[in-house]
Amino acid sequence: MSETQEKVFERDDKNYLPVFNRYKIVLEHGEGAYVYDINGKKYVDFLAGIAVNVLGHAYPPLVDAVSKQATKLIHVSNLYYTEPQANAAEKLVKLSGLDRAFFANSGAEANEGAIKIARKFAHSIDAEKSQIITAWDSFHGRTLATLTATGQPKYHKGFEPLPGAFDYVKYNDIADLESKISDKTCAVMLETIQGEGGVYTPKGDYLKKVRELCDKHGALLILDEIQCGIGRSGKFFAYEKYGVKPDIVTLAKGLAGGVPIGAFIVTEKVAQAFHAGDHGTTFGGNPLACAAANVVLDTIPNEKFLSHVEEVGAYFKGKLIDLQKKYSAQISEVRGEGLILGLQLSNSKLKGVEIVNECMKRGAIINCTVGTVLRFVPPLIIDTAQVDEVINILDEVLEVSK
Ligand SMILES: *Cc1c(COP(=O)(O)O)cnc(C)c1O
Repeated sequence: MSETQEKVFERDDKNYLPVFNRYKIVLEHGEGAYVYDINGKKYVDFLAGIAVNVLGHAYPPLVDAVSKQATKLIHVSNLYYTEPQANAAEKLVKLSGLDRAFFANSGAEANEGAIKIARKFAHSIDAEKSQIITAWDSFHGRTLATLTATGQPKYHKGFEPLPGAFDYVKYNDIADLESKISDKTCAVMLETIQGEGGVYTPKGDYLKKVRELCDKHGALLILDEIQCGIGRSGKFFAYEKYGVKPDIVTLAKGLAGGVPIGAFIVTEKVAQAFHAGDHGTTFGGNPLACAAANVVLDTIPNEKFLSHVEEVGAYFKGKLIDLQKKYSAQISEVRGEGLILGLQLSNSKLKGVEIVNECMKRGAIINCTVGTVLRFVPPLIIDTAQVDEVINILDEVLEVSK
């Protein structure tokens, strides 16, 4: 017998650190693109645990792989070899075109590792080659180094002194980067597609020009694909869409379909900066997480799966553009690629978070970022009928919000 949702709210509100404004539902189980709360109410889930549940909920091959691995070994530490990790590393190296992978437990940790290896690499050339340039409105995590990398002052406030030598540029503004980059730049770190900051895609040949400037100044290009990677853009790595190759790429969210994991992948040249003892992790890349990652890595990077993401994403974007036409006073722009889409609110009567709540009442889970952007990062297995469900609910809510 499960308790009432009020009881759960009460106990959790009393005991959990109050750092999240939570929606008032208690989720209990899921299947495919749907989740159910403890009252049995069904929701179509277009947030997917924040771009995490790429294969949906309770995906049978993932459930099987995790269950089977749990009966063998959950964890042994990185002092020993395991086959699931050897398999996952091999697949990531092959897919990325880079040379070596390291596994962490989260996105922030993946970026922290990327920053560390970039610094170590640059300092082997010049002890003062420390500057790391990131973009305004970026999001890179919540550890001290990654919140400093995050170009949003609200995440910095109160945590000073912050780690040094971070600078910020306007995303999509190559002149701004040109004015700040120099031979003292260690790395430029960007999300290939900005997620938390409001779903912004790179314009024209911006990323190619960033790559050129990095090469000119001997700076590494770190692409954070924690949110936009793992097939979400329609390519396995979003950078494949824009014709660039980073020196370091970071992954997390969707990589193990919901089991905590993170990874950074580097070129051999960069890898040479790290020696035994320079970095490490107790849990990262344990056999349970890697068994889950292997299911994702065997499923998503195939042509049929990725073209499904492109097709259903294009269908969804088309429907959002139809809503923009119908509610042109409320919606100023639709942005994104594949299944990372954003709808920019302008003069809606309801605030973003209120629209999210109204959708939830009607059985759709969506998200609002930066207060005014409705963000859609659903499981990659959704179909057009599920898109229609969400669009119909949004249509109703935007009608109320006129
Ligand atoms: C979510 C996110 C992170 C941080 O990941 P955590 O697992 O929450 O630490 C970093 N970068 C990007 C682009 C993200 O979307």
